[in-house]
Amino acid sequence: MSDTVLEIHLSNLRHNYSFLRKRLSTNTKLLAVVKAFGYGSDAVAVATCLAEQGVDYFGVAYVHEGIALRKAGITTPILVLHPQVPNFEALINHQLEPSLYSQRILDAFLNKLKETQTKNYPVHVKFNTGLNRLGFQPKDVVSLLDSMNTNSAWLHLQGVYSHLAASDDSSEATFTKMQLRTFVDIASSFKVAHPNTIFHVLNTSGVLRYPDAQYDMVRTGISLYGYGNDPSVDAQLKPVLTLKTIISQIHVLEKGASLGYNRAFVATTKTKTATLPLGHADGIGRIYGNGNGYVMIHDQKAPIIGNVCMDMIMVDVTHIDCQEGDQVIVLGPDASAETLANSAGTISYELITGLSQRIKRKIMSL
Ligand SMILES: *Cc1c(COP(=O)(O)O)cnc(C)c1O
Repeated sequence: MSDTVLEIHLSNLRHNYSFLRKRLSTNTKLLAVVKAFGYGSDAVAVATCLAEQGVDYFGVAYVHEGIALRKAGITTPILVLHPQVPNFEALINHQLEPSLYSQRILDAFLNKLKETQTKNYPVHVKFNTGLNRLGFQPKDVVSLLDSMNTNSAWLHLQGVYSHLAASDDSSEATFTKMQLRTFVDIASSFKVAHPNTIFHVLNTSGVLRYPDAQYDMVRTGISLYGYGNDPSVDAQLKPVLTLKTIISQIHVLEKGASLGYNRAFVATTKTKTATLPLGHADGIGRIYGNGNGYVMIHDQKAPIIGNVCMDMIMVDVTHIDCQEGDQVIVLGPDASAETLANSAGTISYELITGLSQRIKRKIMSL
């Protein structure tokens, strides 16, 4: 019997990796996105496992996330999607590849390369094709080509990429195709002078819905962890994360008795409740309370009732034959993070990346 623990099932990660590989052309590289602690799992464990599988690249959001991988001995190329100027020296010292997303960032990075006399440094240039979040504009192509040419002693153009705004949304297919066409134009402008550049645009849903746009590399995150933004895909993936806990205490509420803070639940009939040792400080937000979400106890659904507390949730076990100390599954193969997230109007990404560092991680290698 163990208390609250987040199991990281590497065999499921390998399954999801090979599921994705089978969908890629033989020449398409796979960049595994391991930002935010590997989507809430354990970035080092995930990266080490995928490096053994022959993954081509890793992607992180910030420089310190890349440094953590380097310190753990990962030697695979690492793209930093959203680097900041104050971290450029650390980025260079750890051989991380920056995404250059604006003229300000490009100029600052060039200055750092010159200051440290670092030549021929691999960089990826990001284009904004409609997400309007980060990136150069398509009209900047000419000046960028010029800039790459002028600074060819310092910059090695390793990649050119963009990011889709609604790859998972079939009602936005027209918009996505417009983004992909814009990217085709950008890529063809770069190919002439930079034929060996890695062009990449697809995330998980892009790989699944727009396989013709694989180019030289794809960047997959959520699918590696077992979720595909589509029930038919989810059926073929295996969740890497299993979140288990135990029943700390059972209470029987008589009709009229209240439960938890602000008496948010009041029993309308005799109700058996179980108190569990995890709460909003662990990443199970208040939104999951008051009947929105549920956990599994002995393969039966136990709704989360009352307000979620910082360190505890209470669930309704009136109809479940259970005892103090029994196991509870919060997330797992039969308790999908997608389903729990949807019960609160959010998505699997938010739920799993929000599982706090307070929860013990347990790496399951087999
Ligand atoms: C997070 C991220 C991804 C991964 O997206 P998934 O939907 O998890 O596959 C890919 N590219 C960029 C730029 C990202 O920020």
